[in-house]
Amino acid sequence: MQMPKADLAIIARKSEILARLAAVLPQDSIISDTGELRAYECDALSAYRCPPLLVVLPKTTEEVAAALRICNELRVPVVPRGAGTSLAGGALPTADCVVIGVARMTEVLEADYDNRYIRVQTGRTNLSVSDAVSEHDFFYAPDPSSQLACAIAGNIAMNSGGAHCLKYGVTSNNLMGVTLVTMTGEIVKVGGAYLDSEGLDLLGLICGSEGQLGIVTEATLRILPKPEGARPVLIGFDSNEVAGACVSDIIKAGVLPVAIEFMDRPCIRATDAFSGAGYPDCMALLIVEVEGSEAEIEDQLNRIIQIAESHDPVEVRKARDAQDAARIWLGRKSAFGAMGQINDYMCLDGTIPVTELPFVLRRIGELSQEFGLDVGNVFHAGDGNMHPLILYNANKEGELETCEAFGAEILKLCVEVGGCLTGEHGVGIEKRDLMSHQFSQDDLEAQMRVKDVFDPAWLLNGAKVFPLEASERRRLDLARYAAE
Ligand SMILES: Cc1cc2nc3c(=O)[nH]c(=O)nc-3n(C[C@H](O)[C@H](O)[C@H](O)COP(=O)(O)OP(=O)(O)OC[C@H]3O[C@@H](n4cnc5c(N)ncnc54)[C@H](O)[C@@H]3O)c2cc1C
Repeated sequence: MQMPKADLAIIARKSEILARLAAVLPQDSIISDTGELRAYECDALSAYRCPPLLVVLPKTTEEVAAALRICNELRVPVVPRGAGTSLAGGALPTADCVVIGVARMTEVLEADYDNRYIRVQTGRTNLSVSDAVSEHDFFYAPDPSSQLACAIAGNIAMNSGGAHCLKYGVTSNNLMGVTLVTMTGEIVKVGGAYLDSEGLDLLGLICGSEGQLGIVTEATLRILPKPEGARPVLIGFDSNEVAGACVSDIIKAGVLPVAIEFMDRPCIRATDAFSGAGYPDCMALLIVEVEGSEAEIEDQLNRIIQIAESHDPVEVRKARDAQDAARIWLGRKSAFGAMGQINDYMCLDGTIPVTELPFVLRRIGELSQEFGLDVGNVFHAGDGNMHPLILYNANKEGELETCEAFGAEILKLCVEVGGCLTGEHGVGIEKRDLMSHQFSQDDLEAQMRVKDVFDPAWLLNGAKVFPLEASERRRLDLARYAAE
């Protein structure tokens, strides 16, 4: 994975840039110490690291605007950062950049239960949005597995999803408005506390734009009344293909579970050993959760079990109460940690049509043999969002590269069967160079022209999302400008 060379002329101006920022921002909001900067050298794609030139941690939208105005004037690249949990390297800094992080912007600005929305600063963590409205029996639906740590800022930038997004949709379906600060320091409000706004839908453009267009400082989010109850059923199968076919049949039948989660044997064994969830020792298992009144839950679970039984499951375990439910979810929720205990891993995020699950799982098994690396599959099967976890040893020379090559083949396969490179983790640097498998040069050019409008000098997160050779001319223009 390549990153463009840092601009030494910018690095040489560190004292000047620091002094300009310090003149307009509170002293404790700037980090310049080499040791302290290391805390920001990577995100959750930790194979790639580079300490930034400086870090700014503002507390208000106006402070973000002040910092951006100076970086724009001095032509210093900026990398926006939420909680740094991106698995795609979206928040990876360069040595010549200023990281602007929203981690101190955690206020709830407004909660309106009659109109069902909450307005927050975007440094607030995903889970703490639900916590803030919980005593009024409301919740915020998108639930990435990282929800304890990740910030609404990153959720908006990556259009994040989670286990329960099958029913409630991903971030873009639950986002009503944002305050965005452009690279020139202009504060723009898009959308608001209503269902649809006048004019072009710029909100759709901003959500999922991976910090390319501006820094999002405030968000208006849809909140929902908590369901009366929810219960899962665990279904074990003796093959991945049969489990995949069962998922297709559940979706086809028109039942709408809140979640359908899939784990294959390597994952089942690892998570069971790690968490003691008591999973059956089978080839594949599904966790299907439904919600509603007690009668609705019973009816839906019975319909799902009926469909599953036509596929000869090796085990069907219906949760009878909250304790059973927690036990069923225990292993799935600790799946990433459990796999990480075995070895280093790379988590992929391709999306495929649900009907292609059996074929894609079989092909991933074959590729695993070809590349000589084990892979565990855990994913949101209801919406076809796959998370193959490729195990590798980071200390073994060349194994990271083999792992990346294997991962690239899986993602290309997702595109070939009619899916896409990313369901929820974003492109970042991880999938940047695969974008030309998904999009033609004309498509990429059209997308880059949108960035040109918001960020003509390509100062915001410039080496992410687009293949380096596609964005090179634009980034070189910046280097020339900076050198003048
Ligand atoms: C164990 C684990 C499990 C995960 N599970 C899921 C999951 O189930 N679903 C899912 O979708 N993701 C998941 N992720 C990935 C990650 O948590 C999400 O992408 C999350 O939304 C990132 O949020 P963050 O605040 O950490 O963003 P960061 O990592 O800080 O940044 C992510 C991107 O957003 C940009 N950005 C950050 N702040 C701003 C801002 N204020 N304005 C504009 N752009 C900004 C950054 O430049 C970067 O491109 C998981 C990660 C881990 C480590």
